[in-house]
Amino acid sequence: MSEFSAAFDLFLSSGDFLKLTSRCELGIPSVQHFPVNNATATLLDTGVLLFEPDNIPAECKDVLISCGIHGNETAPIEIVNQLVMDIVKGGGLVKQRTLFILGNPVAMNMSKRFEVENLNRLFCGKYQNITPCYERRRAGQLERYVSDFFSSAHSKKSIKYHYDLHTAIKPSKYEKFAIYPYQNDKPWDKGQLAFLQSSGINTILFGHAPSGTFSYFTSSNFNAHAFTVELGKVMPFGENNMANFEAIKNNLQALIQDDKIELNIFDNANFNLFKVLGDIPKITENFVLHLDDDISNFTYFEIGTLLAEDNGYRYQTSETGESIVFPNPKVANGQRAALIVVPTTL
Ligand code: ZN
Repeated sequence: MSEFSAAFDLFLSSGDFLKLTSRCELGIPSVQHFPVNNATATLLDTGVLLFEPDNIPAECKDVLISCGIHGNETAPIEIVNQLVMDIVKGGGLVKQRTLFILGNPVAMNMSKRFEVENLNRLFCGKYQNITPCYERRRAGQLERYVSDFFSSAHSKKSIKYHYDLHTAIKPSKYEKFAIYPYQNDKPWDKGQLAFLQSSGINTILFGHAPSGTFSYFTSSNFNAHAFTVELGKVMPFGENNMANFEAIKNNLQALIQDDKIELNIFDNANFNLFKVLGDIPKITENFVLHLDDDISNFTYFEIGTLLAEDNGYRYQTSETGESIVFPNPKVANGQRAALIVVPTTL
């Protein structure tokens, strides 16, 4: 029996999608179909698993749940593994078309964020602009699988969802938060914010511009309700307190099973909402960010605080509530060293 057949047989009995994916990180010999409870499962590629129910409800949904776009972000991978395991072992039902993606198996096996390039900057075709590497190839493949998924015969009338699950490198003042990709002229969806709140996430950062993230790709190309969801701090496999993720896991399961999810009416008072004010660019090697290395995301500064200096350039806060997100002074010259956000309401 080949290495893959052995790994696949083990997967069918154990439901351990993570183990299967790590044992064939670079690909599978051929697409595999197998039956589960009232649905057909198709392993399209390594880390890419499609479930299609035999009977699709009239109000049909296409649900994409991704994780491991950054390979060392283990908690989301464990959440997805539990959801898949439940379905494959016959406990969990799939009543809506669902695609699960473990994004970067090579980086997962290295316990690294990525091998060569940050995969979550390569979507919307941006991968075509970099030199060949694993992430370039994987971004192209994932775009194709997702395009096929959202272009099925059912998808013409389906509501589309994409939750791209991450954990952050930095600590955060608000442990869980979601980035809502830039919507251009479309309004922010309050029902989706209520869904996030009920999933334990009430801090939202509204995107201000197109980007190369996975969630921006599905939002802008397929009109999906899409989010980059940050669930806390990066930990090694097995060290995550999974109880901390029950709310979102249960809600994702309910979405797949087509169970009713009770939601609160949206109320600004229940959220910490932030919009982008601007960013601090790193221009030269003389760039200095006047912040501690371990500063938390969403740390707030009084007006007049000097945050950064570069050749003749000083960034001083000038608006009420200015807070910092994703500070990283180690980026290349010309890139963003930190994002500045301020509170907002809908
Ligand atoms: Zn991430």
